[in-house]
Amino acid sequence: MEGRSWPDVAAPAVADPGKDLSFLTPKRRFCSIYAPQIKKQLDLRTQQAFHSRQLLDLVTMAATASPTTANSNSVSSAMDDPDSLKTRVCIIGNGPAAYTAAVYAAKAELKPILFEGCKADDNAPDHLTISSNIAPGGQLTTAPGVEDFPGFPEGILGIELDDRLRAQSIRFGTEIFTEKVTYADFSVNPFKVFTASRTVLADSVIVATGAVMKRLSFPGSDEGQNGFWNCGISACAVRDGAAPMFLDKPLAVVGGGDSAMEAADFLTKYGSKVYIIHRRDALRASKVMQSRVLNNPKIEVLWNTVVRKAYGANNGETRALEGLELQNVVSQETSDLKVSGLFLAIGQEPSTEFLGGQLELDPDGYILTKPGTTVTSVRGIFAAGYVQDKKYRQAVTAAGSGCMAAFDSEQYLQEMETEKENSLLMSSQPKKARRPRKRRRGAGTMKR
Ligand code: NAP
Repeated sequence: MEGRSWPDVAAPAVADPGKDLSFLTPKRRFCSIYAPQIKKQLDLRTQQAFHSRQLLDLVTMAATASPTTANSNSVSSAMDDPDSLKTRVCIIGNGPAAYTAAVYAAKAELKPILFEGCKADDNAPDHLTISSNIAPGGQLTTAPGVEDFPGFPEGILGIELDDRLRAQSIRFGTEIFTEKVTYADFSVNPFKVFTASRTVLADSVIVATGAVMKRLSFPGSDEGQNGFWNCGISACAVRDGAAPMFLDKPLAVVGGGDSAMEAADFLTKYGSKVYIIHRRDALRASKVMQSRVLNNPKIEVLWNTVVRKAYGANNGETRALEGLELQNVVSQETSDLKVSGLFLAIGQEPSTEFLGGQLELDPDGYILTKPGTTVTSVRGIFAAGYVQDKKYRQAVTAAGSGCMAAFDSEQYLQEMETEKENSLLMSSQPKKARRPRKRRRGAGTMKR
């Protein structure tokens, strides 16, 4: 986030003095030198809040002070021959749906390639790295604790669950690229999937790009010259909430759903007080989340209230949120609320922009799938997880649909093979005697 500076450390003060770090950017150099202390000092929650795996990846990478990237399990081989990337199934996304699809596709020996988006762009301005430049999907990485994922009776940190799912997909042979897909061409076969540095030819594609947090628009809400986006306003409490600028300060959360409750509860660990600003007089969140929040003495709900304006200190170079102008939508009265942080938790919108309208979407932008399957409007393209689900939206349902997508994909690939065999047979037979070969019994069922 903006405000967190990465001093341009010229000489390695703590790390091995013999190590030449000049090839690193200021941020990597900083991490390289201070990684050991950072690692010691941050407790688990703060590590998570200080940007979960994105920072940890940086820290781990920097600790080894190697010019290679942290996610080098497959990048180097592909870099050697960027044109050689072909796969039976390409998976786009990085949450439970994507990684589960990868596990099952790899188990079915489809040798999946998975693009998990970009974790952190070293060349991007720092505020972009922390808050804007995240991969689509992967909301697990922004959940403080997941208490309902089967198999974890004590609950598990979102980031840890995400890491475990990722590791499992790698264990079965998934090739992962930490790159963002910029475009895909579904009008050709094999399909083409593009990132900034490579193209993949894929016989089938699983889209599991999830959804991104929605934003609100009011004066002072954006990243422009007079806005406080990333300078006090954020859409992710877990990622940004532990920043020093919020410590022991009054904070606010907008929303009345589970995400808002979760954010408010989490922020009480850092802020002096947390206000929930909700536009109605009833919460949408589950009962258990509601009662946790309503019984927390550090949280106050401002009912029937909306934000009209954000204001703060702005000297051109640095900006810091200082307060909000609120309006009660019943009485129409306006009021002032002094807060240093505002966290939006008003739901998500599916990440489908990069598809350029090639798949049929519902009016809210979710990918339409054939009921009971992950089949989309384009044969050979499948969708799993939040990007096609606006009803259940749980980590476990996302994982389940990822598994379904792998099965559907394998079945499609087998059908394609059968069709190809039939057409070869047809073309090799004399015209009169041509009869299509019957589909093999059992074709299209997954090996378990
Ligand atoms: P959500 O349930 O759709 O809630 C969004 C909230 O934001 C609603 O209260 C809504 O108000 C409010 N809102 C929407 N647009 C607004 C606007 N323009 N201005 C002001 N307020 C606005 O979204 P969510 O909380 O992100 O949850 C999404 C799904 O994920 C849900 O199924 C939820 O159960 C699940 N989830 C689960 C957990 C968990 O189990 N631990 C945690 C987080 C999310 P109204 O109520 O007036 O519509």
